[in-house]
Amino acid sequence: MDKKKIVIAIDGFSSCGKSTFAKAIASKLGYIFIDTGAMYRAVTLYALEQGAIVDGVVDEARIVELLPEVEISFRFNEARGASDIYVNGVYAEERIRTIEVSNCVSRVSSIGEVREKLVAMQQQMGRSRGVVMDGRDIGTVVFPDAEMKIFMTADAGVRAERRYKELTAKGDDVTLEEILENVISRDKADMTRAISPLRRAEDALELDNSYMSVEEQMAWFMERYNEIVG
Ligand code: C5P
Repeated sequence: MDKKKIVIAIDGFSSCGKSTFAKAIASKLGYIFIDTGAMYRAVTLYALEQGAIVDGVVDEARIVELLPEVEISFRFNEARGASDIYVNGVYAEERIRTIEVSNCVSRVSSIGEVREKLVAMQQQMGRSRGVVMDGRDIGTVVFPDAEMKIFMTADAGVRAERRYKELTAKGDDVTLEEILENVISRDKADMTRAISPLRRAEDALELDNSYMSVEEQMAWFMERYNEIVG
């Protein structure tokens, strides 16, 4: 008999490897993986392109005005084993990952109207269960009734190093210092914002993966998943 499909909520700090972990879980269980950070990044990219963010100054009122015209969609990419994000029908998976977007995204994600729109989309996407969703407020706000909640942490230096390797491998011109600064400032902004701040849900399992391989994380996960789903 097929196991019952559940919602797996993965929250935690920036660059903890949440997406890598969530993607591995989704492929193991045949679930859909939803990267909600990509959605906040997509709105930020659109705001940058439309001139609603100039020289780091975020025009919140303009972003709220632009919101109805931002259409976000996902299409599965076989080669990557995950979905790519599209903004108004245009492929945006790589453009949302630049340091420019990373530097502004926490301010955009603190806008109530932005969160309302994206949370509603996320709830819709997970309505049939069978999803692994990663973000900052999945276990607390988007799916407070998720059957399994994981809160990920890792040492900030280790996280910056991982992100640095990822970006420089793609040819991005960044320094380790600037990435560490971005990781720390995003954590702070995400934890202290007024609406849906990043926090561990009381019923979330904590996973510090500073010194764990993806295989070790999967072994940790499967043990707990089997306890929950039986
Ligand atoms: O996960 P990622 O680092 O790509 O997320 C980018 C940003 O989007 C976070 O720093 C946070 O400000 C915002 N975010 C959020 N709520 C989520 C997912 C991401 O506020 N569920």
